[in-house]
This record gives sequence, C-alpha cells and structure tokens, in this order.
Amino acid sequence: MIADNLKIVRSTITCAAKNCGRNPDDIRLVAVSKTWPVEAIKEAMAAKQFLFGENYIQEMENKFAVLGQDAQFHFIGHLQSNKASVAARMFTMIETVDRIKLARKLNDHLLELGKTMDILIQVNIGNDEQKFGVSPENTESLVREVSSLTTLHIRGLMTMPPFFDDPEKVRPMFRRLRNLAEAIKKKNLFYDNNKVEISMGMSHDYQIAIEEGATLVRVGTAIFGSRS
Ligand SMILES: *Cc1c(COP(=O)(O)O)cnc(C)c1O
Repeated sequence: MIADNLKIVRSTITCAAKNCGRNPDDIRLVAVSKTWPVEAIKEAMAAKQFLFGENYIQEMENKFAVLGQDAQFHFIGHLQSNKASVAARMFTMIETVDRIKLARKLNDHLLELGKTMDILIQVNIGNDEQKFGVSPENTESLVREVSSLTTLHIRGLMTMPPFFDDPEKVRPMFRRLRNLAEAIKKKNLFYDNNKVEISMGMSHDYQIAIEEGATLVRVGTAIFGSRS
C-alpha cells in the first residue's frame, strides 16, 4: 500500500519534472510521516524511502528512539525556542527557521554539540495571519542575520501557502517564493549559492510546485493516507 503509493508519487514527480524540462534528480521527496507510527515509516524504508518530515518534537523523540540514524528527518513544524536543543539532536534539516531568536538558540546548542545544521528559512509567502514564517519583505534581512551564526547553513527557503481547493490558485505564491530565492541567491547570501533548496508543494499541489521550481516536496497524505 505505502510502497504502491510511493511508486505513484515518484512517477508523478518524474513526469512533472520532465514536462517542464527539469531533471527529476533535482527534486527530493520528503515523506511526511507525522501522526503515523514507526511501522509505517519502516514500510516506506523497505520501499527505499529514507527521507521523512515530522512536525512534533515529542512524537519524533519516540520515533528517533527506535529508528535512530537509519533514516533522515526534516523538521517541518513550528519550532518553539525551548525545543531547539532536542531538535538539533534529531533532525538533519530544520525547514522552519523563521525568527532570529530561534536561530540563536539553535546556534548555541549546536556549538555545545560541536555540530552544524542545514536549515531553511520559512517564508509566509501569502502574508497569511494563520501561518508561521517571516514575511517576504523581511526575508532577506533575516537571511543576513542568521547567516552570521556559524553553525547554521542556510540552504534555501520553505513555504506553506494558504490552502485552496483549486491548486492552480497557489501557483503565483510558489512563483513568488522561487523569485525571492533567486534574488537572495544573486546576492550570494545562501550557504551554497550553486545549490539552493526550495521546499514547497504538498499532496494536492506538488506537481505545480515542481513546475515552479521546488527542489523538496513534502508529501504526506498521498503516501500514507489521510490523517485522522
Ligand atoms: C502535514 C504537512 C505536509 C504534508 O501535507 P499532505 O497534504 O498530507 O501532503 C507538508 N508540509 C507541512 C509543513 C505539513 O505540516
């Protein structure tokens, strides 16, 4: 079931990439396993999926105790500053850094651990009051501030736009995030400006996100089923 779904999602990614002249290898699938048990993750791993997304620290601690480093996890939820140290230990990337206070906390803990961490800056691309993230207007200055913290490697930008029934409505927002990433890349502000990550697109709109330049798509429901 999960293996079949993964097959479908992977071929959809490949088709979407080819249709818009992109290399499918430039797009990584983050399987969003929040609320699903370790068994579901193991099923996906048996089908060669080793990159997952999780939203909740407590839930991740239980999964990490079982899975350890056998898979890679990106944190995609809202991170409270007091959870920064646990997060720094368990995740290979934190996609949702959206304020300097959190970045400083992460940096402090990473200095203690003697580690560096790949991060994305979460942008509230729709300026939606319901959503977390730095405003598009303030993104560049946050990138400048965060990049002075030596343990944090800013790989790119992430967004979670408002939900629309018609996924075409979200296309302009995906395009805006990509343009913002391009502008910041031109100023050489990312850790590696030759390889800038753009995390956008979920189960109902990842094809559109790929057409608009996503390098990371975060897909949950289409792989694991609907969350209760
Ligand atoms: C839950 C979640 C997803 C996955 O959403 P689906 O619609 O299940 O694919 C992606 N990104 C974030 C930030 C999420 O919280």
